[in-house]
Amino acid sequence: MLFPSIIGLVIDTVKDPETPEDETKKEQIAGIDIPSTIKVLSYEIPTVQFYSALGVIFLCGSLANFGRILLLRKVGERLMAKLRLNILKKIFYQDSKFWDIHKSGDLISRLVNDSTIVARSVTQNLSDGMRSTISGFVGAAMMLTISVKLTAYMMLIFPLLVFVALVFGRRVKRVSREIQEQLGSLTKVSEEQFNFTKTIQAFNNETYEVGKFKKEVKKLYDLSVFEGRLQGYFYSGNGFIGNVFLIFLLSVGTTMVRQGELTIGELSSYLMYTTYSASSVYSLSNFYSELMKGVGASERIFELIKLKPAIIPTKGEKVDVSGDIVFKDINFHYPTRPNHQVFNNLNLHIEKGDHVCLVGPSGCGKTTVTQLLLRYYHAESGSIIVNGHNLEDVSLAHFRQQAGIVQQEPMLFSGTLRENIVYGRRDATDEEVQKVCDLANCTKFINNFPDKFDTVIGAKGAQLSGGQKQRIALARTLLLPGKVSDEVRAKLSHENIFNDKGEVLLGPNILILDEATSALDAKSEEAIKRSLELRQQAELTTISIAHRLSTIKMSDKIVVFNTKGEIVEINDFDTLINDPNSELTKLLSKSESHEDVEEDL
Ligand code: ADP
Ligand code: MG
Repeated sequence: MLFPSIIGLVIDTVKDPETPEDETKKEQIAGIDIPSTIKVLSYEIPTVQFYSALGVIFLCGSLANFGRILLLRKVGERLMAKLRLNILKKIFYQDSKFWDIHKSGDLISRLVNDSTIVARSVTQNLSDGMRSTISGFVGAAMMLTISVKLTAYMMLIFPLLVFVALVFGRRVKRVSREIQEQLGSLTKVSEEQFNFTKTIQAFNNETYEVGKFKKEVKKLYDLSVFEGRLQGYFYSGNGFIGNVFLIFLLSVGTTMVRQGELTIGELSSYLMYTTYSASSVYSLSNFYSELMKGVGASERIFELIKLKPAIIPTKGEKVDVSGDIVFKDINFHYPTRPNHQVFNNLNLHIEKGDHVCLVGPSGCGKTTVTQLLLRYYHAESGSIIVNGHNLEDVSLAHFRQQAGIVQQEPMLFSGTLRENIVYGRRDATDEEVQKVCDLANCTKFINNFPDKFDTVIGAKGAQLSGGQKQRIALARTLLLPGKVSDEVRAKLSHENIFNDKGEVLLGPNILILDEATSALDAKSEEAIKRSLELRQQAELTTISIAHRLSTIKMSDKIVVFNTKGEIVEINDFDTLINDPNSELTKLLSKSESHEDVEEDL
């Protein structure tokens, strides 16, 4: 900020012709008298002391600038990291309803793009804003001290610039939010496309998908160009007004110099301060539009940060849930489909230690039963009682330690086989891992890979077959420890299913298998059947959903649903299969007439 004054000072001291030959002139810099110029030959040049004094001032300025840049960067990065972590935390504590509504692409865009904009807006931008404000005021004060008259002229233009900036800022905010939303759509589309490349190729739809993406890109392009046009109008307009005005000021100033009201040095400083102030007004309006951009982006971020956790896993009682499971008068529809009632007064009693098999036509609600039990969704009315406790009162985190699910399409993480298997229990020993792999019939195929347990399986386990993925997912869940009585422990002590702490490695107290063995061949299934029998002996509850006769056969109880989500019968396999009028027999004969594989339902 001192620079223009110093320039003026140098101009005026150097050109002053009144100095006697051998005299050094004195100037005050930062309140100290400093010998300023000395005459060498016919030139008057600044002294070494004068240069040094200025050097010190410039050095301090540079250091302060360095500190400011570094500090801002740090604050900004920290804020960004905080925002991102907060968003992620909030997202993990949402229930499945949230995921039925939101698309991951859009969320990723908010996590990555919007947080950057917000952080930049409140650090870099805010500091620029403050700097501009300060330099604007200081500039104006300096201008006033140099010439009140010129400054009065200056003020003519000021309201015009502010007005233009305000109008412009509001528009930028709107466009900017639209751009961020469009970026979200772009990520959404490409994310799905990258996940489904094989399907796209199989249907020869590469061009169609490129077209889909192109449409989104075009929208983004149009919006950004519109923003560019706004900026173009603004900056060029301001520049034009500013330049014209500067020439006007120069003419007035020169006249004042001629009339002795100003020195040349003063006029020079004045004009420099004018450009300083002008550029600070200019960057203030830029600040305003950037701030508005930040506000737009922060709205999108705070929508997520404001989210109340739909579930607080640690809230509730930490009770033992290894007992009967009772669904009582459950009414349920999915939040996104209020008109489709999945269950009307569903009642189901699953006894501790039973292996219960849910069967019924596709879409009848079998998976929904398990989603409600694991509290991914919340029933409209009715209750689920586990071991005498209302599930809603039990700590979800605690409950989920005692319940596990294996799905038809197991979600495996990129990484190694071992990392996937120990996902639920990261401190598992090699021995434990080996045992659950035996129980899930994985050992043989794992040993056939050159890298064994260190085999990398690609994103979503893409480098494994469907049946291999299912078995790894089963091993992963079997590694979660179940609780058994001492009696059971004694009874099964000869089996190779205990770890050295005496815990049983047959999966948690409640195990849900949702068509989890659908991709297995008969031999693999036979091997897994043995593990499920061990679970029955260990009095651990298993709920399986299956189509295959072989899987249905091994359960203690079969629950048959009709298309309306009503339970039409519950009994053991032999009773149902021997009754020609039972729903199960009907279901089986129906699927046989569709010439399914003999063993399949
Ligand atoms: P299944 O017996 O085949 O496992 P589901 O329990 O998955 O059947 O589904 C029961 C009904 O709920 C079906 O009509 C299905 O379309 C619907 N449905 C399943 N999941 C959702 C969801 N996330 N949002 C809305 N409707 C769903
Ligand atoms: Mg299902």
